Amino acid sequence: MPDTIFARILRGEIPCHRVYEDDHVLAFLDINPLSRGHTLVIPKQIAATLDQLSDESAAALGRALPRIARAVMAATGTRDYNVLQSNGARAHQAVFHVHFHIIPKADDGSGLGIGWKPQQLDDAEARKLAADLSGRLAAA
Ligand code: AMP
Repeated sequence: MPDTIFARILRGEIPCHRVYEDDHVLAFLDINPLSRGHTLVIPKQIAATLDQLSDESAAALGRALPRIARAVMAATGTRDYNVLQSNGARAHQAVFHVHFHIIPKADDGSGLGIGWKPQQLDDAEARKLAADLSGRLAAA
């Protein structure tokens, strides 16, 4: 697994503006924020994408994210925000260590812009897909 800038931050080799840390999670300010308070939340586990995470890391992230979001909103005086988590280059992941962006949507419009192009869900295809997925999850 190739080294990443976030692994180097975790090892203390490069600095960050740390906002939260526990046994499994580190959170720090994004170096190129989309809006004031844009924060990154990462697991200490070395993993490129979300699906590779252990249950322990996933649970720790799930516990930390709402707490960090509350602090970001309180500190920035914003109420609306996006949580973005990208996996793979086609999905716009640039740093291949799992990370969640917490991005305040500010009154001045700064924050995440979203291109959302919904398609129709075909009923027959949806039945097949849901059965496939639930079968896989039952076996996992
Ligand atoms: P993504 O496209 O989801 O992989 O986003 C990677 C994010 O990491 C970008 O928003 C970068 O601005 C941010 N980033 C890259 N290097 C650093 C760094 N050294 N400290 C803080 N944030 C960083």
